[in-house]
Amino acid sequence: MESIRLNSRQTLLAALVAATLCTPAMAAGSKVSWDDILNDDKTTGDVLTYGLGLKAQRHSTMETINTANVANLVPAWSFSFGGEKQRGQEGQALVHDGVIYATASYSRIFAIDARSGKRLWEYQHRLPEGILPCCDVVNRGPAIYGDKIFFGTLDAGIVALNKDTGKVVWKKMFADYKVGYTMTGAPFVVKDKKSGKVLLVHGSSGDEFGVVGWLYARDPDTGEEVWARPLVEGHMGRLDGKDSVTTGDAKAPSWPRDKDGKLVEAWSHGGGAPWQTASFDVDTNTVVIGAGNPAPWNTWKRTKEGDDPKNWDSLFTSGQAYVDAGSGELKGFFQHTPNDAWDFSGNNSVVLFEYKDPKTGKQIKASAHADRNGFFFVTDREKLATGAGYPNKPTSLIGAWPFVDGITWASGFDLKTGRPIEKGNRPPAVKPGADKGDTIFVSPPFLGGTNWHPMSYSPKTGLFYIPANHWGMDYWTEHLTYKPGSAYLGQGFRIKKLFNDHVGILRAIDPKTGKIAWEHKEKLPLWAGTLTTAGNLLFTGTSDGFLKAFDAKNGKELWKFQTGSGIVSVPVTWEMDGEQYVGIESGYGGAVPLWGGDMAELTKPVSQGGSMWVFKLPKQLAQR
Ligand code: CA
Ligand code: CA
Repeated sequence: MESIRLNSRQTLLAALVAATLCTPAMAAGSKVSWDDILNDDKTTGDVLTYGLGLKAQRHSTMETINTANVANLVPAWSFSFGGEKQRGQEGQALVHDGVIYATASYSRIFAIDARSGKRLWEYQHRLPEGILPCCDVVNRGPAIYGDKIFFGTLDAGIVALNKDTGKVVWKKMFADYKVGYTMTGAPFVVKDKKSGKVLLVHGSSGDEFGVVGWLYARDPDTGEEVWARPLVEGHMGRLDGKDSVTTGDAKAPSWPRDKDGKLVEAWSHGGGAPWQTASFDVDTNTVVIGAGNPAPWNTWKRTKEGDDPKNWDSLFTSGQAYVDAGSGELKGFFQHTPNDAWDFSGNNSVVLFEYKDPKTGKQIKASAHADRNGFFFVTDREKLATGAGYPNKPTSLIGAWPFVDGITWASGFDLKTGRPIEKGNRPPAVKPGADKGDTIFVSPPFLGGTNWHPMSYSPKTGLFYIPANHWGMDYWTEHLTYKPGSAYLGQGFRIKKLFNDHVGILRAIDPKTGKIAWEHKEKLPLWAGTLTTAGNLLFTGTSDGFLKAFDAKNGKELWKFQTGSGIVSVPVTWEMDGEQYVGIESGYGGAVPLWGGDMAELTKPVSQGGSMWVFKLPKQLAQR
């Protein structure tokens, strides 16, 4: 421990802190209540939710570390996840009662003493042969509630562990991993206003294998399903073990039928998997979550023969979904990419925020989302949560602005209809007798203008911070047949560079105007989330291993530290013993080295790894 000489006031403080630590309420093992979760964005001593609050803003009110002193940030400790499984660490850690809960690749979770970096317990889920994660063996983080910690597993399961001992309390397999279902996202805790029940909400992954995506709500004590919502139009939901209502129109008019009036094959495998983490609008009792791409990627398999794909939207895929926390019914939806032909998906975080309308001065409750399709969307979340925007009529769209350069598929969005103005960039169908369709160039590529790595919002600067990328792809249509457990794409691709000097482009965007306030270029792709603080700092990681701090107002790089492997995770910050800490996982992997074409070459020199890094600003260096 530190050997700083204490003055009498500090001694008194230390005694008070010690006394507080001895009271039962503060002792390790205290339960996490709904109020703790509700107030997570305001309490600096813990991190209890993915997104650092129910609105997923990833903003901390702490200003102990700030632009003037961040250069003094030093590592406190580093913890290795160990073993031979050193790849793809995409987790966001949680922090409670001086314990860090961090998930790692291959469905592992660790409890680590936040002060010393000592392992308290670990749990390794036994994975069967033949799991089918599309984009590496990643896990994006746990959820916490009561005396339990929850996380998803790659064999389409979810596990609850006692947070103090690591002992398994319950395990649920929610779908068949052999046909392509997995779980990589962090679960989320919400409370249904009507019943007063606290629920554990999580989604499935698997769109690349032709699954129907589902969102689930469970009893956190037992793991029993309360409701389940499929995100393909016309599929039936469940509530309390019984059929509830279909998603959208039971006749599924946004999916075509064949000559005999039967829905096309793609409808049975329609995708829409909500594989990232929800946010929660407490006021309207609404779970807000992005829905994945339609399956297959091939736009012609979801379009009536001879018709225009723009007439077949493949609802409710590639958009933001508003689901009632009590009934699991879909109340509202805004589609970012109707009849998505490019695997843009709609999964990236949907961040809830409020702002004053510059014209009317009225307070607007909005949602913000930076999509893989290259556009940054601001929508009216009150309209969407109360069903008025369902589906898209009347439009809930307030603004849609490009956050990357060189978008090829659309020139913008029509605010009256809420629909994209397409530029004729759909890959042509395979001509009769040909092996494949003509190759076209598309930007952004399927890896997206941004991807799963979540953006942050600072209410202090009023800006969103998007970890984005500039790249494109050669893209062509292929023949396709559905085979359970095989990739169901019907498209071929190769990722290409767009600019010689950079791929990664960190951008700050104003949600009122869509103006880019500043940008920072990185040679390698960005694949880590951002975090902002009231100290006017922005933290994020880079694929070549640095944790970096920027001035949130102007993008000036103020500090960096090399963690030894690429960073593709999400930073967190908290306060402990009067000092501010920053934590992040390090360990390269994810979709880029697997699917990245030219990017796989570019990132080849990055070493693999698997560790949790924690930094702090020692008290004596915290002075301005
Ligand atoms: Ca908190
Ligand atoms: Ca996908």
